[in-house]
Amino acid sequence: MGLLALGTALDWPEAKKQAHLVRSWGIKQLLEIWNKAKGKERDAMLWGDEVEYLVVTYSKDDPKVLLSLRQADILKALENDTALSKAGCAPPLPDGSNSHTSQPPPVFHPEFGRFMLEATPGKPWGIEFKELLEVEPNMRLRRCIAKAHMLSNEYPITLTTFPRLGSPGVFTDPYYPVSGPKLRSQFVPDEIANPHIRFPTLAANIRSRRGRKVQVNVPVFKDEKTPWPWKDPTVNYDLHNWPEDDDVRNGAAPENFIHMDAMAFGMGSCCLQITFQAKNLTEGRQMYDQLSPLGPILLALTAATPVYKGFLADTDVRWNQISKAVDDRTPEELGEKPLVNDRWRIPKSRYASNSTYISEDPRLRPEYLDPDLVIDESIKQQLLDGGMDDRLATHFAHLFIRDPIVIFSEDLKELDLSKTDHFENIQSTNWQHMRFKPPPADNSIGWRVEFRPMEIQITDFENAAFAVFIVLITRVILSFDLNFYIPIKKVDENMETAHARDAVLTRKFYFRRNLFPTARPSRSGSSTPVASRPPTPTGPVEDEYRLMSVNEIINGTAYAKATSSSPPSSSSSSSSSPPLKRRKTSSSEVEDNEEEDEEFPGLIPLVESYLDSVNVDVATRCQLATYLDLIRKRASGELWTAARWIRHFVARHPEYKRDSVVGEGITRDLVAAVVRIGECEVNGRGFRGVCGAGEGEDGEEGVEGVERLLGGFR
Ligand code: ADP
Ligand code: MG
Ligand code: MG
Ligand code: MG
Ligand code: MG
Ligand code: MG
Repeated sequence: MGLLALGTALDWPEAKKQAHLVRSWGIKQLLEIWNKAKGKERDAMLWGDEVEYLVVTYSKDDPKVLLSLRQADILKALENDTALSKAGCAPPLPDGSNSHTSQPPPVFHPEFGRFMLEATPGKPWGIEFKELLEVEPNMRLRRCIAKAHMLSNEYPITLTTFPRLGSPGVFTDPYYPVSGPKLRSQFVPDEIANPHIRFPTLAANIRSRRGRKVQVNVPVFKDEKTPWPWKDPTVNYDLHNWPEDDDVRNGAAPENFIHMDAMAFGMGSCCLQITFQAKNLTEGRQMYDQLSPLGPILLALTAATPVYKGFLADTDVRWNQISKAVDDRTPEELGEKPLVNDRWRIPKSRYASNSTYISEDPRLRPEYLDPDLVIDESIKQQLLDGGMDDRLATHFAHLFIRDPIVIFSEDLKELDLSKTDHFENIQSTNWQHMRFKPPPADNSIGWRVEFRPMEIQITDFENAAFAVFIVLITRVILSFDLNFYIPIKKVDENMETAHARDAVLTRKFYFRRNLFPTARPSRSGSSTPVASRPPTPTGPVEDEYRLMSVNEIINGTAYAKATSSSPPSSSSSSSSSPPLKRRKTSSSEVEDNEEEDEEFPGLIPLVESYLDSVNVDVATRCQLATYLDLIRKRASGELWTAARWIRHFVARHPEYKRDSVVGEGITRDLVAAVVRIGECEVNGRGFRGVCGAGEGEDGEEGVEGVERLLGGFR
C-alpha cells in the first residue's frame, strides 16, 4: 500500500464536507502530472510483482493454527535488518549460480490485515528473458527472509484467505474480543486491521457512508448433509452494542449464504499483482485495454478461495467478496431509495472490474464502451480544458465519481502541486481489475499499468509461473499487435462467470474470435506496426466474439478438443468434489454448439510462437516451458486449481462431516499441508516424491493430492 503519512484522519461526516475539495485538488494534481508526463518517451520496459502473505502460527504439536497479528513487529524487524540475505535465504538460480546481484534486498510492505504482509522485488524487473528466471528464486528469497524475521511458530503462507477468519472462538494470536467501535463487526475484532489510523478509518468511513455495515454474503456450498435451507449458525441476532447490530435483524444475512460484515473479510485476502511500465502513454493505454479482457480468465485460472468463516463456499474466488467488503454506496446510489442527496445511481462497488477502455486505438469501436458509464461531467470538462483527450478524461471522470474515504486534515491547508496525494487518494481507492498509474509527481518513472485480478497461489513456483505468463502475454500483445477487444460489459459478465465453482472447467467466457490485425503472424513472428493496420471492419460487434472455455482460450481449440474429452476424475468420494459433469443451466456453461469447430489459436501457442521468434537460450526456454506447462494443465483440467485442491483436502479429512463445515482440525491440517508444501519447495526435493501422498523419504507424511495441484515438475 505504499508509504503511509501520519496525521489526523477525519471521521465521515467531516470527511464528506471536504470531499469536493479533495477531488478538485486531485484533478489539479492530475493535470499537473499529465502536462509534465504526457509526452514522455522511451521509458524502459520494466515490470514488478507483488506477493501477499497471511502470517499464521503453526507448530507440529499444536492442535490449533491462528492468525498472527504481529505485522508491525515483523515489519520493524525486517526494516532494522541490514543483512537481509541471511544464510540459507538465497537458493541457487536454475542455472546453478547463486547470484541475486541484479536485485537489491526485497521490500516488505504493510497491508490491510494485521495478519498480512506484502513483498515486492527490491527493484523492478527488466526486459531480459534471463530475468524471468530470477523471479521464482526471488519470491522464495522473500518468503525465506520474511520467515527469518518471525517467531519459530510463525509462517508466511500464500493462501488467499484464512479459512476460519471470523469463526466463533479464537482465531487470532493474541485474542481480542469482537465488536469494536471501528468495524462494529460481530465476527472480527477491530484489532484485525492494521492499526495505522488510515486502515480503521477506511473501514469505519465506508461503513458510515453506507449507513450500515458492509454485507459480504457468499453462497454456501450445499453438501450431502448440509441442512437446507441453510442458516448461517454463527450469526448472532441478539446483539445490541451498536446501531449496526440491527443489520442482521433487517435481513443482512439471507438464507443459504455465509454472512460476513466487515472490510477484513475482503481486504484480508491475498492476491498476486503485476505492474508494467510502458514506453509511453500510448503504449500504456494499449496495454491497459488489451489486458483488460484477460482479467476474468486469469481470475478463473488462479481460483484459490473456496472457504469463508469456517464454511465451504459455492464459489471459488475472492473477487466479489472484496467488492462487497469495501462497497461504500449509499441506499440512494444503490437504487434502493430515490435520489435525493446523492448525485448518481452507481452500478458497481469501487472495487470491481474496470468499466471503460482508455486507448485511442482505432480498433476500439464505440460499441465496446458502456453507454451508461457514470462520470462526473464537470470533472471531465476540467480535464478537457486542461488539455486531456476525451477518452482518458472520461476514465478519470469515472474514477472521480467516488468520494475520498480517508482525509487527513493536515493535507487540506494548501494545494501542493508538487505532490499527487489528493489524486492518489481517489485513484488508489478505486480498486479495479486494471489500474492505470500515471508517473509520480517528480515524473521520475513512466506510465504504468497494473494487472490485479489474480489470486495468490500456494507455492512460489505457481506465483512465478503466473507472473511470467502475464509478462509474456504482454510482450506477445505488443509484438503481434493483438486485439482482444470485446464489449466492456462482456468483461463484467465474464468476471461473474469466473466465480463459479470450477469455472475453469465448467464455464465459458466471452472472448474475441480473431486477435489478429490481418493474417496471422508466421512462426517467425512478424508484427504489424500500428500505422500499417488495415481499416477496422465494421460488421456487427456480436460477430466478433463468442463463448469459449478457458482451455480453448489458453491452449487453443485444437488442444482443447484433444483434451476436453477426458475431464479430470476426482479421486474423492465426497460430493464436495463432484465429478465434473457437464450440466447445462446457463448460457455461460460449457455446452456443445456449432461454434466449437471454429479455430482459435490459444494464448500459450501464441506465447510459444513469440518465443520462437526471439532469441531465448535453451536453459531459459526450458524453465519457461515448466511455467507454461503448469498453466496449460490448469486450463485443461489435468492439474487442479488451488480451490479444487482445498475442496478435495477438506472432503478427504476425517473430521469433515459433509455438512460444509471447515472446523479447527481441518483448518489446522490444511495449514500444516501448506507449510509442508513450502518446505518441500525450499528443499527442492520434489513435490511428488517427498510431498506426495503417503510417507515421504524423510519419514514425514506427504501431502494429500499435491501432485494434482502441481504435477511432477520438481
Ligand atoms: P502498489 O501497491 O501501489 O500497486 P507497489 O509499490 O507495491 O505498488 O509496487 C508495485 C510493483 O511495481 C512492484 O513490484 C514494483 O517493483 C513495481 N515497480 C516499481 N517501479 C516500477 C516501474 N517503474 N515500472 C514497472 N514496475 C515498477
Ligand atoms: Mg497489496
Ligand atoms: Mg503494493
Ligand atoms: Mg497496493
Ligand atoms: Mg499493487
Ligand atoms: Mg476451481
